[in-house]
Amino acid sequence: MKIHEYQAKEIFTGYGIPVERHTLCHSAEEALQAYRRMNVDRVAIKAQVLTGGRGKAGGVKLVNNEKDVYQKSQEILHMNIKGLPVKKVLVSEVVDIAAEYYISFTIDRNMRAVTLMMSASGGMDIEEIARQTPEKILRYSIDPFIGIPDYLARRFAFRLFDKADLADRMAKIIQELYQVFIEKDASLAEVNPLVLTTKGTLIAIDAKMTFDDNALFRHPDIRSLFEPTEEEKLEALAKERGFSYVRMNGDIGCMVNGAGLAMATMDMIKLYGGSPANFLDIGGSSNPMKVIEAMKMLLDDKKVKAVLINIFGGITRGDDIAEGLLQAFDQIESNIPVIVRLTGTNGDIGRELLQTNNRFLVTETMKEATISAIKSAKETSAKEANV
Ligand code: GDP
Ligand code: MN
Repeated sequence: MKIHEYQAKEIFTGYGIPVERHTLCHSAEEALQAYRRMNVDRVAIKAQVLTGGRGKAGGVKLVNNEKDVYQKSQEILHMNIKGLPVKKVLVSEVVDIAAEYYISFTIDRNMRAVTLMMSASGGMDIEEIARQTPEKILRYSIDPFIGIPDYLARRFAFRLFDKADLADRMAKIIQELYQVFIEKDASLAEVNPLVLTTKGTLIAIDAKMTFDDNALFRHPDIRSLFEPTEEEKLEALAKERGFSYVRMNGDIGCMVNGAGLAMATMDMIKLYGGSPANFLDIGGSSNPMKVIEAMKMLLDDKKVKAVLINIFGGITRGDDIAEGLLQAFDQIESNIPVIVRLTGTNGDIGRELLQTNNRFLVTETMKEATISAIKSAKETSAKEANV
């Protein structure tokens, strides 16, 4: 689970890691108020989204007057960064940077240990540095039984700083960040950049934390910070209703029973040159209410240009499924073509039932169904393009 920079900074503060003054804002008006209250010359307006690389995407702007604070906040609040809408910005006091460092703790599975990474080349392009000049990134495995006592912290810190007072402060930050990482069951605690200001202080002006989902049960405080994306909300909703639902980027909505059949259906669509928009696994049920809910979810996705229903009757009988579909489609208004492949227990009876309603294109084999679905999706798109 990821959290926002402002949330990570709040956690950092609780552990003594210095961060710059900042205020979280939900609108340009709030940002302007915050700027006035902070009573400083320059502030950074920073998009709060659960992804990195905001700076490069234009989601971090330094401004020095009321008009720009308002305008840039407005702009950033209308941005989408890597598909995520920006709903909040951080207005933070700009610090004068003398140098930018990188520091993080992660888990190195090969070493079976927590790894400390540090670099004197912090800033926006740490991934690039890792690729091109990996020697600029220092790595240390931390022995879990020893942790980071003072002498080790200082030894690490002296790799980046040669002045004793700075190294001392760095050593403290290393220990504090390690403590956050361990106590919160994090999988990442990263500061990029940790800056040395022109006044000679060290401040974390960015903060990133990711947590181990399997440990969230013992961190209700962290779990309460969970902010699902639109995708995750839909998937959670589906789960509540007893489906498993996964969205993709294509144009064919797939309703199937069973995870294995779902995979096979995806493969088949790809094999014949199509592209799935999602799959929705309704499990072993033929309950019309469930089918209605499932179809509504599928059709809510405007990318869906054809629906492929692929059902193998086992314990669930084909005729039950057919009844369920017929009842469901009595209540669903949609012109999207629906292709049904139904086989297995009472599959023949089911297909006969479905053929009484010309809402469905009924097939027996997966190949036939898949090819029809791909063709129908293309036709729907072409029709929509002509309107
Ligand atoms: P990221 O791109 O998502 O990692 O966002 P950051 O918070 O790391 O900001 C990106 C860059 O903006 C930093 O590396 C800095 O160069 C710059 N920046 C952010 N805050 C400040 C600040 O207070 N002062 C100055 N001078 N630059 C800043
Ligand atoms: Mn950063």
